Amino acid sequence: MSHLKKVSVLGATGSIGESTVNLLGQQTDDTLEFKTVALTASTNVARLAEQAKHLNAEIAVIRDENLYSDLKSLLSGTSIEVAAGDGAIVEAAALDAEIVVSAITGAAALSPTLAAVRQGANIALANKESIVCAGRLLLDEARSHNSNILPVDSEHNAIFQVLDNKRRVEKLVLTASGGPFRSASIEMMRNATPEQAVAHPNWSMGAKISIDSATMTNKALELIEACYLFDMSQDRVDVLVHPQSIIHSMVSYDDGSVLAQLGMPDMRTPISYALAWPNRMPVPNVERLDLAKIGCLNFEAVDDARFPAISLARKAIEIGAWATNVFNATNEVAVDAFVNGRIGFLDISALNKTILEGFLNGQFGNVEDPKCFEGVFDLDQRARVAAHNTLSATV
Ligand code: NAD
Ligand code: MG
Repeated sequence: MSHLKKVSVLGATGSIGESTVNLLGQQTDDTLEFKTVALTASTNVARLAEQAKHLNAEIAVIRDENLYSDLKSLLSGTSIEVAAGDGAIVEAAALDAEIVVSAITGAAALSPTLAAVRQGANIALANKESIVCAGRLLLDEARSHNSNILPVDSEHNAIFQVLDNKRRVEKLVLTASGGPFRSASIEMMRNATPEQAVAHPNWSMGAKISIDSATMTNKALELIEACYLFDMSQDRVDVLVHPQSIIHSMVSYDDGSVLAQLGMPDMRTPISYALAWPNRMPVPNVERLDLAKIGCLNFEAVDDARFPAISLARKAIEIGAWATNVFNATNEVAVDAFVNGRIGFLDISALNKTILEGFLNGQFGNVEDPKCFEGVFDLDQRARVAAHNTLSATV
């Protein structure tokens, strides 16, 4: 008997979104079939319409309301429903689907992801920012609605695949490619352009996560994501630079065993695992791993002097939920300022540190761990305002 799984994709036109659409459009085996409910995008109306037709989605939603009539005419003559606006994305996320792929960039994904959780859908979570920003509140909300958070981020997906006995875990080891500046000098990094920073050696990804990879803030966010998702203290999560991105992460057990998940760097593998969970599905188009051809795998420690993001993340998680929220929001402002040429590359981590310390010493008013989602959104806004004001005062 074939299982028909209803799926929605938030952020369908992005890098994760496209990989997901590719999987949904492929012939799987005779045990699993997908039915696409909602597809959403920010501005790429032409691609969204193509995807909706290709997968025969029930509804396509574009964030930019000015593009509503374009989407409507692109989908005229089909039975696909059309909607526009942030509110419509949240409504689409709440439609009846068994699994919702959360692949919007940044904390903007939190509201729609929350709507999907409250509907009881399982979440294929690519968007790490929503966990970093809302922390345990999101996980508790999921638990109370019988929604499983299935990590898509390749490191967390790897850990999820090999975590067979949580009680016996000693450490998690997150691997990191080191990004485009792994062996760059600090002078080179100081003058790095956005074009150099987005050029990731192994993965083809959206602009924000690519810049995050260059500062290693991506690994910093992933460290926080791992602590929340797997309920681990930060001192039990190691980061190991592994330039080839073949070992996607590892779990160390207290009997001396280390279990790892390996594969070519292609997000279709972790996405498929979340889509098919608790089973697996065939992914014929992913290149197979040929270790003889690769020859050797390398490892090195993180250089804290050039990549201070990871120790800042350790500090944030030690402080608590407000600090990881502030860290994420500030970083979104900092990345934006770098992309727009307002600040230099090294200023991204410097701003993240300044704002976190500013909140810590009371410079931006009293702060405490949010008790509800309203508090999460308020604090996210306060951190953005603090970051913008600090930027305006200095550049
Ligand atoms: P991307 O920029 O390629 O795509 C983002 C998608 O979200 C697009 O469809 C865009 O239209 C939509 N979008 C952007 N801003 C929006 C907003 N404010 N409201 C509604 N929709 C919006 O990004 P990506 O590389 O696919 O990454 C998406 C998420 O997945 C990020 O959180 C990232 O950290 C995470 N992730 C990505 C990868 C990867 O390989 N790309 C790997 C692991 C995790
Ligand atoms: Mg990752």
